[in-house]
Amino acid sequence: MCAVCNQGEEDVLHMLFHCPFAQACWLMGPLALRTDELPRDLSIILDSLFKHKTDEVWTMLANSAWAIWRCRNEKTYGGKVPTFERFLSILNSVGVETRIAAAANKKKEVQLEVSNVCNSQYRCKVDGSWRSPWIGGLGFVVEDGELLKGYRAAPSVVCSPMQAEAVALREAIHFVKSLNLPSCIFLTDNQDLAKVCMELHPPVDADWRAYREINEVWRLLKEFDYECRHIPRSQNCVADHLAKVEHAADWMPESTEIISLREWADAHATSIIEFEDDMTGDIEEVTI
Ligand SMILES: [Zn+2]
Repeated sequence: MCAVCNQGEEDVLHMLFHCPFAQACWLMGPLALRTDELPRDLSIILDSLFKHKTDEVWTMLANSAWAIWRCRNEKTYGGKVPTFERFLSILNSVGVETRIAAAANKKKEVQLEVSNVCNSQYRCKVDGSWRSPWIGGLGFVVEDGELLKGYRAAPSVVCSPMQAEAVALREAIHFVKSLNLPSCIFLTDNQDLAKVCMELHPPVDADWRAYREINEVWRLLKEFDYECRHIPRSQNCVADHLAKVEHAADWMPESTEIISLREWADAHATSIIEFEDDMTGDIEEVTI
């Protein structure tokens, strides 16, 4: 018996397409798809749905199915009543995940992504990367509970690891500010940066190569009443990847770029998939 509607038999066809909840999600979702008259044969459905579609529509189909599946699991294992709003939140989060993965594989240009779903507690994981002499990158990802809200990866011109971290944090603060979130905790794997940022007085004796940025970040955090904490590097892998995507893309020689980036993506694919688990890590474990 289907746990969502207590009516149909709980098979893949029902859960994904014929369950009244699934039907509503498909119809009111971004694809406005009617599934009530779909045939009762999965292979025919997949054929008709996925044929002649663009990459984008295909991705949206797959993500919608995945979001419905997750709503169903929340009901089955957590007793949480599925709603269309919840479906949209998950769909949006999956969309951000997809774009992060695509960015890591360099299939798509990396850009600022913002969703319009808004609630709960926000966290922004930040990282900067640096390579001598002036080559740097910044990456950050904004999390809304266990969902993703937005991310960015971009190159930066910096002369030290600390400056790379500070610039990344500065850009992350501006990004979060532009989202008008009620509050947000910024998380960096650079312990020194987290420490000076949360000091009560301006960090006047900060590293001279990042002096201006650190003081700027300190001022912004105070002005907007944001917090900054340290997290272990192992919990910051997505921001770390994003910071290095730009890094690699800009400076790797043309001929080896595709192979190297693919190897890089392969090597890190697991941590991108495991991202969800990573995000549920208890905030109390964070050391300041
Ligand atoms: Zn059902």
